[in-house]
Amino acid sequence: MDNDIIIVGGGPAGLSFACSLASTGIPVTIIERQPSESLAEPAFDGRDIALTHLSVRILTELGIWERLPDDAVSPIREARVLNGDSPYNLTFDTMDESIDALGYLVSNHHIRKALFERAQDIDELELITEVGVSSVAPDEDGASVVLDDGRKLNASLIVAADSRFSETRRMLGISASMHDFGRVCIVCRMEHDQPNEGIAYECFHYGRTLAVLPLNDQQSSIVITAPMSERDSIMALSEDQFNLDVQTRFDDRFGNMRLVTERFPYPLVGVHANKFYATRFALIGDAAVGMHPVTAHGFNLGLSGQEILAKQVIRAANGGADIGDSELLKRYSNKHMRTTRPIYYGTNEIVKMFTDDRPATKVLRRWTLRLANNFPPIKHAIRNKLTESQNRGGLFPLLLR
Ligand SMILES: Cc1cc2nc3c(=O)[nH]c(=O)nc-3n(C[C@H](O)[C@H](O)[C@H](O)COP(=O)(O)OP(=O)(O)OC[C@H]3O[C@@H](n4cnc5c(N)ncnc54)[C@H](O)[C@@H]3O)c2cc1C
Repeated sequence: MDNDIIIVGGGPAGLSFACSLASTGIPVTIIERQPSESLAEPAFDGRDIALTHLSVRILTELGIWERLPDDAVSPIREARVLNGDSPYNLTFDTMDESIDALGYLVSNHHIRKALFERAQDIDELELITEVGVSSVAPDEDGASVVLDDGRKLNASLIVAADSRFSETRRMLGISASMHDFGRVCIVCRMEHDQPNEGIAYECFHYGRTLAVLPLNDQQSSIVITAPMSERDSIMALSEDQFNLDVQTRFDDRFGNMRLVTERFPYPLVGVHANKFYATRFALIGDAAVGMHPVTAHGFNLGLSGQEILAKQVIRAANGGADIGDSELLKRYSNKHMRTTRPIYYGTNEIVKMFTDDRPATKVLRRWTLRLANNFPPIKHAIRNKLTESQNRGGLFPLLLR
């Protein structure tokens, strides 16, 4: 069996890349461990993905945005960052009437479903499900992949999109910096008595952080991060106890709050591969960079990265050149890394600072918010980064939540 591109992993990044190559005529095979029913009808997993304008532009061009149900897109009109037990907040709004929102929240399962539906329309795409990859062997002339069931596939290029714990990245010996925050992120949806008015709150309380992100229909997406040692006790709270706990920590801003979904825990581990390519091999999505969810940037970076790689591949294919060429892959890696490195390391430091409750850091946290609030260039840079629709790279750490 011969393919031009093999994508390992049919998650949001792998499917986006396949959709970017639609109508190029390049034969693509996706290998995915999950059954195709789970891709066609993904279950709600608690993640409401905050998308930047750049991501909306990419999803629109891929024909994904139009497939999302209208009521599944919730605009974030303003973002407020609170620190400790102080009512003082750092605020961001669009500051521009031509832009209706800083970003948009869409549930991960809607994104995955729309991507899968679009991918189904691509003639040159083959999806092999319910099987993993047992080995990968790339060399200058071509690459091959052996599946767990013994099948062997050949390709010009192998793209790993198999999560932040990418096994194919390991098989190729690409090292990665990993940071285990020792914390857990618990996500769910809650409804409340008062409207949220499209305002996203990130409350860096002492001990825990609480993000309350605006959804339609008087609901919000709740993101709690706490030390891993508190995971079981938070998950064990009865619904009533949990409702009261969140409502109290949120200072009753929205009145009574009630769970409307189950709670989903995710361990907080950030990963950044030290390069995004090897011979006939590229990393995309979380396999390249797995961000801390509080930064709301994992999928945004996954989308912009796959677009960079797709453009390089399409240009080579159109010119009759080798789509697995090392120089091409290196260009992709360097360009994407110029964006990901500062964001990954910058936001990790911000998250570390805002979850450090030592007295000196508490003072620093307070002054950082005030400086950011009163120094317009910082606010403008962050807001512009969220609302730009072209990938210009950049040095500014982003906090959408
Ligand atoms: C709580 C939470 C909130 C988040 N919020 C945001 C947000 O607001 N904004 C944002 O941009 N991002 C957010 N993210 C990040 C976003 O969810 C991820 O960046 C995105 O899901 C990564 O997609 P991916 O396709 O790279 O990886 P994954 O979603 O991990 O998919 C990997 C796929 O590969 C398959 N696979 C794995 N190994 C193999 C193998 N060996 N063989 C075959 N298949 C394999 C898996 O089954 C899976 O389908 C959040 C993440 C979390 C946990």
